[in-house]
Amino acid sequence: MKRILVTGGAGFLGSHLCERLLEQGNDVLCVDNYFTGSKSNIAHLYGNPHFEVLRHDVTVPLYVEVDEIYNLACPASPIHYQHDPVQTTKTSVHGAINMLGLAKRLRSRILQASTSEVYGDPEVHPQPESYWGRVNPIGIRSCYDEGKRCAETLFFDYWRQHNLPIKVVRIFNTYGPRMHPNDGRVVSNFIVQALRGLDITIYGDGSQTRSFCYVDDLIEALVRMMGTPENVTGPVNVGNPGEFTVLELAQLVLRLTGSAGRLVFRPLPADDPKQRQPDIALARDVLHGWSPAVQLEEGLERTIGYFRDRLVRLG
Ligand code: NAD
Ligand code: UDP
Ligand code: UDP
Repeated sequence: MKRILVTGGAGFLGSHLCERLLEQGNDVLCVDNYFTGSKSNIAHLYGNPHFEVLRHDVTVPLYVEVDEIYNLACPASPIHYQHDPVQTTKTSVHGAINMLGLAKRLRSRILQASTSEVYGDPEVHPQPESYWGRVNPIGIRSCYDEGKRCAETLFFDYWRQHNLPIKVVRIFNTYGPRMHPNDGRVVSNFIVQALRGLDITIYGDGSQTRSFCYVDDLIEALVRMMGTPENVTGPVNVGNPGEFTVLELAQLVLRLTGSAGRLVFRPLPADDPKQRQPDIALARDVLHGWSPAVQLEEGLERTIGYFRDRLVRLG
């Protein structure tokens, strides 16, 4: 049995990861400051004697004894990471330094949840890991994008300088049950709007594209990545290469929910990338043939089911 630390473990992805690691028979320590995560995401795990939760901010040093670390702590949606941008950069950068310091003391493996945002508004499409990106360093998304880029730098410097076994995964848009209903991300927004019979807000003309990965596929990739040989550091793209325009997504959500909501068009936020699609050739190779199994329609149906229940409970 391994002792595994998951930072950001009460969040959307973190809670699924904790669940998965417990199912595999591990001892899991979930660390979270509940900025965007919530106890309700992990409450069903409280009775498990192998699950432990610590309210803690990763910008502050942490002294615990574990065998592996998954570093997911960081607000991920534009609304949340722009709420306190200085704190967002601190979470990525100071959080990475502390978790890397912890991993260095323990000589443990450490995985960083990086992001497709490191590619910014890309001029290479789809994006392979070798592409360095096109990121605005002083814009409203920079606290997140540059924070994550600096965290990657730190990971690779701890690897070069201290020979630390690192794993860096660049996650592309992921969706599923336990997404925050008010985080403004496109999948949760459209589903909640559709279920409430409200207008569906399309930013810009809806021709921008994204590639949406269902959470279970993503978690599988994270766990496989942690298990790769030490020479596999990444960065590795993980996501679903199926590419859809935002307009197509809106139409699909309307059809699957049977909603009578109308499409309304709103201004496109600053620095909003026009297209995004992962090149997952490397992931397929190093993660033993991993590729996403859940198609968008099926994943949306499961996510719609979750939000339907949740909205009924919230009233
Ligand atoms: P989320 O907001 O649901 O989860 C983040 C968690 O981190 C929350 O529980 C939050 O409370 C916690 N947290 C934030 N700041 C913290 C701090 N200073 N100390 C301790 N805990 C803190 O978001 P998510 O979608 O689950 O994202 C998890 C990770 O995956 C993030 O690092 C994010 O950047 C990355 N990621 C997610 C996506 C996606 O599409 N969901 C895409 C790319 C990258
Ligand atoms: N750190 C931590 N837990 C540990 C070991 C280190 O939180 O178990 C923090 C420590 O406070 C430091 C950071 O990780 O600020 C980086 O540690 P490292 O040993 O790399 O650097 P140094 O302590 O030499 O600055
Ligand atoms: N978007 C939209 N309507 C919404 C929320 C988002 O049209 O209600 C668009 C947004 O402008 C972006 C895409 O959907 O082009 C994905 O947005 P999200 O915030 O989910 O992710 P990111 O931009 O970080 O990929």
